[in-house]
Amino acid sequence: MVERMKGKVVLVSGGASGIGADTARFVVREGGKAVVADRDEAKGRAVAAELGANGLFVTLDVTQEPSWQKAVAETTAQFGGLHGLLNAAGVGVRNDIETCTLAEFRRVNDVNSLGTFLGCKHAVPAMKASGGGSIVNISSVLGLRGAAYAMAYCASKGAVRTLTKNVALYCAFMKYNIRCNSVHPGYIDTPMIVPALQATMGNMTGKQFLEELHPLGRLGQPKEVADMVLFLLSDESTFSTGSEFVCDGGLTA
Ligand code: NAD
Repeated sequence: MVERMKGKVVLVSGGASGIGADTARFVVREGGKAVVADRDEAKGRAVAAELGANGLFVTLDVTQEPSWQKAVAETTAQFGGLHGLLNAAGVGVRNDIETCTLAEFRRVNDVNSLGTFLGCKHAVPAMKASGGGSIVNISSVLGLRGAAYAMAYCASKGAVRTLTKNVALYCAFMKYNIRCNSVHPGYIDTPMIVPALQATMGNMTGKQFLEELHPLGRLGQPKEVADMVLFLLSDESTFSTGSEFVCDGGLTA
């Protein structure tokens, strides 16, 4: 068996659920070590427990800089280095340009965009000290195009897309051996989209509406995104940096 993540330590923000949890599972399945970092302690500890000795839970609020510093320090103290970061913590909220409050705009952008900035900022020094690494930032198809009903979310995910390119180019220029790419999922069957699935859209259920957005005619599964993330965290993608990897059942095609 080829262990694609052997010798690699990966910190996963949002690791308690959905795409982050499946990525943590795949990292360990492939011979690596995964740190499940999340503000949801009960779910995060349960995922880390599945991973055995190669898993660790750390409490993380991605909007708080000291929380990132502590999470990275715990990771390197426990596992001896940092070679991968997945920024998957995120929140999705329906709002539009007329009704979105300043507080709501700030909350969504704090988690999705500022949280990704802080993750990259504090991972880079630890990865440098570990000989290099790979950062993967989860954006969205809504970081590539707009949607009338997801204003703050689109703004936050567009920021993740270009932040990623900045980190990639800076690290390449500095010869840090650190790559950074963004992943852009379509609608994925995780707790995040439960409210949208339960809504009604004209004469369609929310589920039917979302499924029809994808030419493949279904929602994505978190493991399908985790497979793409794993490729980017592994040494199979060593010539990819600053790029956008779309995983959307054809939605943006
Ligand atoms: P999810 O709700 O299953 O998981 C999100 C995780 O982020 C949760 O465990 C939650 O506790 C954590 N989180 C939220 N705020 C946090 C904070 N301040 N600090 C630490 N952790 C926090 O959702 P998911 O679908 O797995 O989402 C993962 C990423 O994928 C998100 O960035 C999301 O925006 C993105 N995404 C999801 C979809 C989709 O359809 N599900 C589509 C495109 C992009």
